[in-house]
Amino acid sequence: MSDLLAFDRAHLWHPYTSALKPLRAYPVTGASGVRLRLADGRQLIDGMSSWWCAIHGYNHPLLNAALRQQLDSMAHVMFGGITHEPVVTLGKRLLEIVPRPLQHLFFCDSGSVSVEVAIKMALQYWQAVGRPQKKRLLTVRGGYHGDTFAAMSVCDPVTGMHHLFRGVLPEQLFAERPSCRFDAPFDPTSLEDFRRLIAEHEGEIAAVILEPVVQGAGGMWFYHPDYLRGVRELCHRHQVLLILDEIATGFGRTGKLFACDWAGIAPDILCLGKALTGGYLTLAATLATSQVAEGISASGGVFMHGPTFMANPLACAAANASLDLLLAGDWQARIRHIEECLKAGLEPARSLAGVADLRVLGAIGVIEMREAVDVERLQAFFVERGVWIRPFGRLVYLMPPYIIGDEDLGRLCEAMVAAAGGGHE
Ligand code: PMP
Repeated sequence: MSDLLAFDRAHLWHPYTSALKPLRAYPVTGASGVRLRLADGRQLIDGMSSWWCAIHGYNHPLLNAALRQQLDSMAHVMFGGITHEPVVTLGKRLLEIVPRPLQHLFFCDSGSVSVEVAIKMALQYWQAVGRPQKKRLLTVRGGYHGDTFAAMSVCDPVTGMHHLFRGVLPEQLFAERPSCRFDAPFDPTSLEDFRRLIAEHEGEIAAVILEPVVQGAGGMWFYHPDYLRGVRELCHRHQVLLILDEIATGFGRTGKLFACDWAGIAPDILCLGKALTGGYLTLAATLATSQVAEGISASGGVFMHGPTFMANPLACAAANASLDLLLAGDWQARIRHIEECLKAGLEPARSLAGVADLRVLGAIGVIEMREAVDVERLQAFFVERGVWIRPFGRLVYLMPPYIIGDEDLGRLCEAMVAAAGGGHE
Protein backbone atom coordinates (compact mmCIF):
# COMPACT_ATOMS: atom_id res chain seq x y z
CA MET A 1 0.00 0.00 0.00
CA SER A 2 2.84 2.41 0.75
CA ASP A 3 4.12 1.85 -2.85
CA LEU A 4 0.75 2.76 -4.21
CA LEU A 5 0.56 5.93 -2.16
CA ALA A 6 4.14 6.90 -3.00
CA PHE A 7 3.48 6.56 -6.74
CA ASP A 8 0.22 8.44 -6.42
CA ARG A 9 1.92 11.31 -4.58
CA ALA A 10 4.82 11.51 -6.97
CA HIS A 11 3.02 11.12 -10.31
CA LEU A 12 -0.75 11.41 -10.19
CA TRP A 13 -2.50 14.72 -10.35
CA HIS A 14 -5.66 14.94 -8.26
CA PRO A 15 -8.37 17.56 -8.83
CA TYR A 16 -7.23 21.11 -8.13
CA THR A 17 -3.96 20.10 -6.44
CA SER A 18 -0.28 20.87 -6.62
CA ALA A 19 2.08 18.25 -8.08
CA LEU A 20 4.62 19.22 -5.43
CA LYS A 21 2.43 19.48 -2.35
CA PRO A 22 -0.61 17.33 -3.02
CA LEU A 23 -3.34 17.05 -0.43
CA ARG A 24 -3.64 13.68 1.26
CA ALA A 25 -5.44 10.99 -0.76
CA TYR A 26 -7.08 8.00 0.92
CA PRO A 27 -6.75 4.61 -0.83
CA VAL A 28 -10.18 3.05 -1.39
CA THR A 29 -10.37 -0.64 -2.26
CA GLY A 30 -14.09 -1.09 -2.65
CA ALA A 31 -17.46 0.58 -2.42
CA SER A 32 -20.83 -0.99 -1.76
CA GLY A 33 -24.17 0.52 -0.86
CA VAL A 34 -23.34 3.73 0.99
CA ARG A 35 -19.96 2.52 2.24
CA LEU A 36 -16.48 3.25 0.92
CA ARG A 37 -13.90 0.72 2.12
CA LEU A 38 -10.43 2.06 2.87
CA ALA A 39 -7.32 -0.03 2.28
CA ASP A 40 -6.80 -0.35 6.05
CA GLY A 41 -10.22 -1.97 6.38
CA ARG A 42 -12.12 1.03 7.73
CA GLN A 43 -15.56 1.68 6.28
CA LEU A 44 -16.78 5.22 5.62
CA ILE A 45 -20.39 6.32 5.21
CA ASP A 46 -20.56 8.20 1.93
CA GLY A 47 -21.99 11.71 2.16
CA MET A 48 -20.87 12.88 -1.27
CA SER A 49 -22.30 10.39 -3.80
CA SER A 50 -18.88 10.74 -5.49
CA TRP A 51 -19.43 14.34 -6.42
CA TRP A 52 -23.18 13.99 -6.59
CA CYS A 53 -23.55 11.20 -9.12
CA ALA A 54 -23.84 7.85 -7.27
CA ILE A 55 -27.51 8.27 -6.41
CA HIS A 56 -28.21 4.54 -5.97
CA GLY A 57 -25.04 3.92 -3.98
CA TYR A 58 -22.19 1.67 -5.10
CA ASN A 59 -21.99 -1.85 -6.47
CA HIS A 60 -25.70 -1.99 -7.12
CA PRO A 61 -26.76 -5.46 -8.35
CA LEU A 62 -29.14 -4.13 -11.03
CA LEU A 63 -26.69 -1.62 -12.43
CA ASN A 64 -23.91 -4.22 -12.33
CA ALA A 65 -26.10 -6.72 -14.19
CA ALA A 66 -27.09 -4.18 -16.84
CA LEU A 67 -23.46 -3.36 -17.51
CA ARG A 68 -22.41 -7.02 -17.67
CA GLN A 69 -25.16 -7.73 -20.14
CA GLN A 70 -24.20 -4.79 -22.32
CA LEU A 71 -20.54 -5.72 -22.13
CA ASP A 72 -21.32 -9.09 -23.69
CA SER A 73 -22.77 -7.47 -26.80
CA MET A 74 -20.50 -4.41 -27.18
CA ALA A 75 -18.65 -2.00 -24.95
CA HIS A 76 -18.30 0.71 -27.55
CA VAL A 77 -18.89 1.54 -31.19
CA MET A 78 -18.55 4.89 -32.90
CA PHE A 79 -21.72 6.94 -33.26
CA GLY A 80 -20.82 8.32 -36.69
CA GLY A 81 -23.04 6.44 -39.12
CA ILE A 82 -24.09 3.87 -36.47
CA THR A 83 -26.87 3.69 -33.94
CA HIS A 84 -27.82 1.15 -31.27
CA GLU A 85 -30.57 0.09 -28.94
CA PRO A 86 -29.12 1.46 -25.65
CA VAL A 87 -28.92 5.00 -26.97
CA VAL A 88 -32.37 4.90 -28.61
CA THR A 89 -33.90 3.57 -25.40
CA LEU A 90 -32.15 6.25 -23.38
CA GLY A 91 -33.24 8.98 -25.78
CA LYS A 92 -36.88 7.86 -25.54
CA ARG A 93 -36.74 7.66 -21.76
CA LEU A 94 -35.25 11.10 -21.37
CA LEU A 95 -37.80 12.69 -23.68
CA GLU A 96 -40.55 11.23 -21.51
CA ILE A 97 -39.28 13.02 -18.39
CA VAL A 98 -37.74 16.32 -19.49
CA PRO A 99 -39.88 19.39 -20.28
CA ARG A 100 -41.79 18.66 -23.50
CA PRO A 101 -40.30 21.36 -25.76
CA LEU A 102 -36.94 19.57 -25.62
CA GLN A 103 -36.94 17.12 -28.52
CA HIS A 104 -33.36 16.67 -29.78
CA LEU A 105 -30.55 14.97 -27.87
CA PHE A 106 -26.80 15.14 -28.21
CA PHE A 107 -24.91 12.60 -26.04
CA CYS A 108 -21.38 13.47 -25.03
CA ASP A 109 -18.85 12.43 -22.46
CA SER A 110 -18.89 14.78 -19.47
CA GLY A 111 -20.75 17.65 -17.91
CA SER A 112 -18.24 20.27 -19.04
CA VAL A 113 -18.41 19.01 -22.60
CA SER A 114 -22.20 19.11 -22.54
CA VAL A 115 -21.93 22.79 -21.55
CA GLU A 116 -19.54 23.42 -24.46
CA VAL A 117 -22.02 21.67 -26.73
CA ALA A 118 -24.89 23.77 -25.37
CA ILE A 119 -22.97 26.99 -25.99
CA LYS A 120 -22.00 25.89 -29.50
CA MET A 121 -25.65 25.11 -30.20
CA ALA A 122 -26.66 28.61 -29.13
CA LEU A 123 -23.94 30.26 -31.23
CA GLN A 124 -24.66 28.13 -34.29
CA TYR A 125 -28.36 28.85 -33.93
CA TRP A 126 -27.90 32.62 -34.13
CA GLN A 127 -25.43 32.29 -37.00
CA ALA A 128 -27.91 30.12 -38.88
CA VAL A 129 -30.80 32.52 -38.44
CA GLY A 130 -28.71 35.44 -39.64
CA ARG A 131 -27.84 37.16 -36.36
CA PRO A 132 -24.13 36.26 -35.91
CA GLN A 133 -23.53 39.29 -33.68
CA LYS A 134 -25.42 37.45 -30.92
CA LYS A 135 -22.44 35.57 -29.49
CA ARG A 136 -21.98 36.53 -25.84
CA LEU A 137 -23.39 34.78 -22.81
CA LEU A 138 -25.16 36.26 -19.82
CA THR A 139 -25.15 34.49 -16.48
CA VAL A 140 -25.20 35.25 -12.77
CA ARG A 141 -22.39 35.40 -10.25
CA GLY A 142 -21.81 32.37 -8.05
CA GLY A 143 -22.30 29.84 -10.84
CA TYR A 144 -20.27 26.81 -11.84
CA HIS A 145 -20.49 25.09 -15.22
CA GLY A 146 -17.29 23.08 -15.62
CA ASP A 147 -13.58 23.41 -16.27
CA THR A 148 -13.31 23.60 -20.07
CA PHE A 149 -12.88 27.02 -21.66
CA ALA A 150 -16.34 28.16 -22.58
CA ALA A 151 -17.66 26.61 -19.36
CA MET A 152 -14.99 28.42 -17.30
CA SER A 153 -15.95 31.71 -18.93
CA VAL A 154 -19.40 31.49 -17.29
CA CYS A 155 -18.22 30.28 -13.87
CA ASP A 156 -18.16 32.86 -11.09
CA PRO A 157 -15.55 35.47 -12.07
CA VAL A 158 -14.07 35.57 -8.56
CA THR A 159 -14.10 31.95 -7.36
CA GLY A 160 -13.74 30.60 -10.91
CA MET A 161 -10.51 30.64 -12.89
CA HIS A 162 -10.85 33.94 -14.71
CA HIS A 163 -7.71 35.45 -13.15
CA LEU A 164 -5.62 32.55 -14.48
CA PHE A 165 -6.86 32.79 -18.04
CA ARG A 166 -7.52 36.48 -18.48
CA GLY A 167 -7.16 37.44 -22.12
CA VAL A 168 -7.93 33.90 -23.24
CA LEU A 169 -11.40 33.40 -21.84
CA PRO A 170 -14.21 35.11 -23.70
CA GLU A 171 -15.60 37.97 -21.60
CA GLN A 172 -19.17 37.23 -20.65
CA LEU A 173 -21.81 39.27 -18.84
CA PHE A 174 -22.49 38.69 -15.14
CA ALA A 175 -25.55 39.76 -13.21
CA GLU A 176 -25.58 39.78 -9.42
CA ARG A 177 -26.08 36.45 -7.76
CA PRO A 178 -29.81 35.76 -7.23
CA SER A 179 -30.14 37.07 -3.69
CA CYS A 180 -33.65 35.82 -2.98
CA ARG A 181 -33.44 32.68 -0.89
CA PHE A 182 -35.39 29.61 -1.84
CA ASP A 183 -37.08 29.55 1.56
CA ALA A 184 -38.05 33.25 1.78
CA PRO A 185 -40.78 35.20 -0.06
CA PHE A 186 -39.67 36.25 -3.53
CA ASP A 187 -38.24 39.74 -3.78
CA PRO A 188 -38.73 41.03 -7.36
CA THR A 189 -35.91 43.56 -6.97
CA SER A 190 -33.47 40.64 -6.94
CA LEU A 191 -34.04 40.40 -10.72
CA GLU A 192 -33.24 44.06 -11.40
CA ASP A 193 -29.57 43.67 -12.30
CA PHE A 194 -30.31 40.76 -14.62
CA ARG A 195 -33.21 42.68 -16.21
CA ARG A 196 -30.95 45.67 -16.87
CA LEU A 197 -28.13 43.62 -18.41
CA ILE A 198 -30.33 41.59 -20.72
CA ALA A 199 -32.10 44.73 -21.94
CA GLU A 200 -28.84 46.64 -22.50
CA HIS A 201 -27.09 43.82 -24.34
CA GLU A 202 -29.86 41.88 -26.08
CA GLY A 203 -28.37 42.47 -29.52
CA GLU A 204 -25.14 40.67 -28.60
CA ILE A 205 -26.40 37.97 -26.22
CA ALA A 206 -26.77 34.47 -27.67
CA ALA A 207 -27.90 32.79 -24.48
CA VAL A 208 -28.34 33.00 -20.76
CA ILE A 209 -26.86 30.06 -18.88
CA LEU A 210 -27.89 29.21 -15.32
CA GLU A 211 -27.96 26.41 -12.82
CA PRO A 212 -31.67 26.29 -11.96
CA VAL A 213 -32.53 26.93 -8.29
CA VAL A 214 -29.34 25.36 -6.86
CA GLN A 215 -25.95 26.86 -7.56
CA GLY A 216 -23.58 23.99 -6.79
CA ALA A 217 -19.79 24.19 -6.81
CA GLY A 218 -19.98 28.01 -6.98
CA GLY A 219 -21.33 28.17 -3.43
CA MET A 220 -24.17 25.68 -2.77
CA TRP A 221 -26.72 28.48 -2.86
CA PHE A 222 -30.49 27.89 -3.25
CA TYR A 223 -32.47 30.70 -4.87
CA HIS A 224 -36.14 31.29 -5.40
CA PRO A 225 -37.87 29.57 -8.35
CA ASP A 226 -39.63 32.86 -9.21
CA TYR A 227 -36.23 34.25 -10.14
CA LEU A 228 -35.93 31.49 -12.73
CA ARG A 229 -39.45 32.17 -13.96
CA GLY A 230 -38.51 35.84 -14.36
CA VAL A 231 -35.38 34.90 -16.30
CA ARG A 232 -37.44 32.69 -18.63
CA GLU A 233 -39.82 35.57 -19.39
CA LEU A 234 -36.99 38.03 -19.94
CA CYS A 235 -35.22 35.62 -22.32
CA HIS A 236 -38.40 35.33 -24.37
CA ARG A 237 -38.93 39.08 -24.38
CA HIS A 238 -35.36 39.88 -25.50
CA GLN A 239 -34.92 36.99 -27.93
CA VAL A 240 -32.21 35.26 -25.99
CA LEU A 241 -31.92 31.47 -25.63
CA LEU A 242 -32.02 29.95 -22.14
CA ILE A 243 -29.55 27.17 -21.33
CA LEU A 244 -30.22 25.37 -18.04
CA ASP A 245 -27.36 23.38 -16.54
CA GLU A 246 -29.04 20.55 -14.59
CA ILE A 247 -25.83 18.52 -14.39
CA ALA A 248 -25.85 18.68 -10.60
CA THR A 249 -29.58 19.11 -9.98
CA GLY A 250 -31.10 16.59 -12.42
CA PHE A 251 -32.70 13.27 -11.45
CA GLY A 252 -34.39 14.19 -8.22
CA ARG A 253 -31.64 15.76 -6.11
CA THR A 254 -33.61 18.91 -5.26
CA GLY A 255 -36.93 17.14 -4.65
CA LYS A 256 -38.18 17.60 -8.22
CA LEU A 257 -37.01 15.40 -11.08
CA PHE A 258 -35.42 18.50 -12.60
CA ALA A 259 -34.87 21.73 -10.70
CA CYS A 260 -36.58 23.74 -13.47
CA ASP A 261 -39.79 21.90 -12.46
CA TRP A 262 -39.81 24.10 -9.32
CA ALA A 263 -40.48 27.04 -11.62
CA GLY A 264 -42.60 25.11 -14.13
CA ILE A 265 -40.50 26.37 -17.02
CA ALA A 266 -38.61 24.81 -19.91
CA PRO A 267 -35.23 25.93 -21.26
CA ASP A 268 -34.28 26.07 -24.93
CA ILE A 269 -31.23 23.94 -24.20
CA LEU A 270 -30.70 21.60 -21.24
CA CYS A 271 -27.50 19.97 -19.94
CA LEU A 272 -27.61 16.67 -18.02
CA GLY A 273 -24.77 14.60 -16.58
CA LYS A 274 -23.49 13.24 -13.26
CA ALA A 275 -26.41 11.11 -11.93
CA LEU A 276 -27.48 10.24 -15.50
CA THR A 277 -25.63 6.91 -15.23
CA GLY A 278 -26.21 6.53 -11.49
CA GLY A 279 -22.53 7.42 -11.11
CA TYR A 280 -21.27 4.36 -12.98
CA LEU A 281 -19.73 5.84 -16.10
CA THR A 282 -19.18 9.25 -17.57
CA LEU A 283 -21.99 10.37 -19.85
CA ALA A 284 -23.78 13.65 -20.43
CA ALA A 285 -26.53 14.90 -22.68
CA THR A 286 -27.39 18.24 -24.21
CA LEU A 287 -31.03 18.56 -25.24
CA ALA A 288 -32.48 21.20 -27.53
CA THR A 289 -35.91 22.34 -28.59
CA SER A 290 -37.08 21.85 -32.16
CA GLN A 291 -36.69 25.58 -32.68
CA VAL A 292 -32.97 25.39 -31.84
CA ALA A 293 -32.31 22.13 -33.66
CA GLU A 294 -34.24 23.13 -36.76
CA GLY A 295 -32.70 26.60 -36.74
CA ILE A 296 -29.18 25.13 -36.76
CA SER A 297 -30.10 22.63 -39.43
CA ALA A 298 -32.04 24.95 -41.75
CA SER A 299 -30.38 25.67 -45.12
CA GLY A 300 -28.26 22.52 -44.90
CA GLY A 301 -26.58 23.42 -41.59
CA VAL A 302 -25.05 20.72 -39.43
CA PHE A 303 -24.20 20.76 -35.74
CA MET A 304 -20.41 20.71 -35.44
CA HIS A 305 -19.47 18.38 -32.61
CA GLY A 306 -18.72 14.65 -32.46
CA PRO A 307 -16.66 13.16 -29.64
CA THR A 308 -15.07 9.70 -29.93
CA PHE A 309 -17.11 8.25 -27.09
CA MET A 310 -20.37 9.92 -28.08
CA ALA A 311 -23.36 7.82 -26.93
CA ASN A 312 -21.10 5.07 -25.57
CA PRO A 313 -23.31 1.95 -25.34
CA LEU A 314 -22.04 0.84 -21.93
CA ALA A 315 -22.72 4.26 -20.45
CA CYS A 316 -26.17 4.35 -22.09
CA ALA A 317 -26.96 0.91 -20.64
CA ALA A 318 -25.95 2.16 -17.19
CA ALA A 319 -28.15 5.23 -17.66
CA ASN A 320 -31.12 3.10 -18.70
CA ALA A 321 -30.75 0.88 -15.65
CA SER A 322 -30.30 3.90 -13.39
CA LEU A 323 -33.45 5.57 -14.73
CA ASP A 324 -35.39 2.29 -14.35
CA LEU A 325 -34.33 2.11 -10.73
CA LEU A 326 -35.05 5.74 -9.98
CA LEU A 327 -38.46 5.89 -11.64
CA ALA A 328 -39.63 2.50 -10.37
CA GLY A 329 -39.28 3.66 -6.77
CA ASP A 330 -41.02 6.45 -4.91
CA TRP A 331 -38.05 8.79 -5.31
CA GLN A 332 -40.08 11.83 -4.30
CA ALA A 333 -40.98 10.41 -0.90
CA ARG A 334 -37.37 9.24 -0.48
CA ILE A 335 -35.95 12.70 -1.14
CA ARG A 336 -38.58 14.34 1.07
CA HIS A 337 -37.59 12.00 3.89
CA ILE A 338 -33.88 12.71 3.42
CA GLU A 339 -34.71 16.43 3.45
CA GLU A 340 -36.52 16.09 6.77
CA CYS A 341 -33.64 14.10 8.28
CA LEU A 342 -31.09 16.64 7.04
CA LYS A 343 -33.13 19.53 8.46
CA ALA A 344 -33.46 17.88 11.85
CA GLY A 345 -29.90 16.52 11.95
CA LEU A 346 -28.15 19.74 10.95
CA GLU A 347 -30.32 22.16 12.93
CA PRO A 348 -28.04 22.09 16.04
CA ALA A 349 -25.33 23.73 13.90
CA ARG A 350 -27.42 26.86 13.32
CA SER A 351 -26.56 28.47 16.63
CA LEU A 352 -22.82 27.73 16.51
CA ALA A 353 -20.54 30.76 16.50
CA GLY A 354 -18.59 29.73 13.38
CA VAL A 355 -21.70 29.02 11.29
CA ALA A 356 -22.90 31.74 8.91
CA ASP A 357 -25.85 29.89 7.38
CA LEU A 358 -27.59 26.55 7.26
CA ARG A 359 -29.74 25.43 4.33
CA VAL A 360 -31.34 22.23 3.17
CA LEU A 361 -33.15 21.46 -0.08
CA GLY A 362 -34.08 17.95 -1.15
CA ALA A 363 -31.12 15.65 -0.58
CA ILE A 364 -28.66 18.54 -0.16
CA GLY A 365 -27.63 19.84 3.25
CA VAL A 366 -25.23 22.77 3.56
CA ILE A 367 -23.45 24.40 6.46
CA GLU A 368 -21.83 27.63 5.41
CA MET A 369 -19.03 28.61 7.79
CA ARG A 370 -17.86 32.16 8.44
CA GLU A 371 -14.25 31.27 7.57
CA ALA A 372 -12.74 28.97 4.95
CA VAL A 373 -12.14 25.48 6.33
CA ASP A 374 -8.85 23.59 6.36
CA VAL A 375 -9.87 20.83 3.93
CA GLU A 376 -7.14 18.36 4.81
CA ARG A 377 -7.65 18.62 8.56
CA LEU A 378 -11.37 18.47 8.33
CA GLN A 379 -11.19 15.51 6.00
CA ALA A 380 -9.00 13.64 8.49
CA PHE A 381 -11.48 14.45 11.27
CA PHE A 382 -14.34 13.04 9.18
CA VAL A 383 -12.43 9.88 8.28
CA GLU A 384 -11.68 9.34 11.99
CA ARG A 385 -15.43 9.52 12.58
CA GLY A 386 -16.14 7.02 9.82
CA VAL A 387 -17.74 9.38 7.30
CA TRP A 388 -16.75 10.65 3.87
CA ILE A 389 -17.48 14.36 3.51
CA ARG A 390 -15.35 16.67 1.40
CA PRO A 391 -15.79 20.37 2.10
CA PHE A 392 -14.61 23.29 -0.03
CA GLY A 393 -14.08 26.95 0.76
CA ARG A 394 -16.45 27.90 3.59
CA LEU A 395 -18.85 25.10 2.75
CA VAL A 396 -19.37 21.78 4.45
CA TYR A 397 -22.18 19.90 2.79
CA LEU A 398 -23.90 16.56 2.29
CA MET A 399 -25.25 15.06 -0.92
CA PRO A 400 -25.75 11.42 0.10
CA PRO A 401 -26.88 8.57 -2.15
CA TYR A 402 -30.69 8.37 -2.16
CA ILE A 403 -30.60 4.85 -0.67
CA ILE A 404 -29.05 6.04 2.60
CA GLY A 405 -30.69 4.82 5.81
CA ASP A 406 -31.68 7.03 8.73
CA GLU A 407 -28.93 5.87 11.03
CA ASP A 408 -26.18 6.52 8.51
CA LEU A 409 -27.67 9.90 7.67
CA GLY A 410 -27.77 10.72 11.37
CA ARG A 411 -24.08 9.89 11.68
CA LEU A 412 -23.25 12.12 8.72
CA CYS A 413 -25.19 15.00 10.28
CA GLU A 414 -23.57 14.51 13.67
CA ALA A 415 -20.12 14.63 12.10
CA MET A 416 -21.03 17.81 10.22
CA VAL A 417 -22.33 19.49 13.36
CA ALA A 418 -19.26 18.42 15.35
CA ALA A 419 -16.99 19.81 12.64
CA ALA A 420 -18.95 23.08 12.50
CA GLY A 421 -18.52 23.34 16.27
CA GLY A 422 -14.75 23.26 15.81
CA GLY A 423 -14.35 19.64 16.89
CA HIS A 424 -11.47 19.12 14.45
CA GLU A 425 -9.39 22.03 15.72
N1 PMP B 1 -22.13 21.99 -14.37
C1 PMP B 1 -22.43 21.80 -13.08
C2 PMP B 1 -23.62 22.50 -12.49
C3 PMP B 1 -21.63 20.97 -12.29
O1 PMP B 1 -21.92 20.82 -10.98
C4 PMP B 1 -20.52 20.31 -12.88
C5 PMP B 1 -19.61 19.40 -12.09
N2 PMP B 1 -19.47 19.65 -10.74
C6 PMP B 1 -20.26 20.52 -14.24
C7 PMP B 1 -21.10 21.36 -14.95
C8 PMP B 1 -19.10 19.87 -14.93
O2 PMP B 1 -19.30 18.51 -15.09
P1 PMP B 1 -18.07 17.52 -15.28
O3 PMP B 1 -17.26 17.57 -14.03
O4 PMP B 1 -18.71 16.19 -15.53
O5 PMP B 1 -17.30 18.01 -16.48
